[in-house]
Order: sequence, then C-alpha cells, then structure tokens
Amino acid sequence: MIWRCPRCRGELVEVGNDVACNVCEIRYPSFEGIFDFRLARPSWIDYEEDRAQARQLIAETVGFSAEETVRYVFDSDALWKLAGPPDYDFSLYWSV
Ligand SMILES: [Zn+2]
Repeated sequence: MIWRCPRCRGELVEVGNDVACNVCEIRYPSFEGIFDFRLARPSWIDYEEDRAQARQLIAETVGFSAEETVRYVFDSDALWKLAGPPDYDFSLYWSV
C-alpha cells in the first residue's frame, strides 16, 4: 500500500513504526499501529499534548483488550466516569 502525505501528496515511507514524507519531510507517528495523519494547524487541540496522552495511555494499558482500554479511559476521568459506557453492549462493536 502506498500512503500519501496529507500535506503535499508526496509518497510516504516507513521510518521505524512511523511514516515520513519524501518531499516535505513531515513525520507521522504511529500509535499502536494507527498513524496520526493530522496536520498541525490552529486548533483547540494541542497535538503534542494529545500525542503524549496517547503514548501514556498505551503504556498504561499494555495487555488490555479494547473493551478494557475503553473502560480504563472512562474510569480514569471523574466526569467521564459519571457519563461512562457501563451500559454499552461492547459486543456490538467488537468480539469480546
Ligand atoms: Zn509531504
């Protein structure tokens, strides 16, 4: 599969677990095999903080199933815990 850079459409090449653009040299990190192709631009999201939180979550949930990871996330935030997904039927989304 040939990935294209969302910024310049240049060809992306694998660099370790990440991919990088041959043309503009932007590197797109991978989180658990999912590439972050977002381009930094004015936004309410701090991309570096968001990526740091993803890395921390990955480290904290090693060996967790997808359901356990979702429950861990909702249980770790007081407001999300109140609104959390305990009534969700996870089997609708993935096999458990
Ligand atoms: Zn590029």
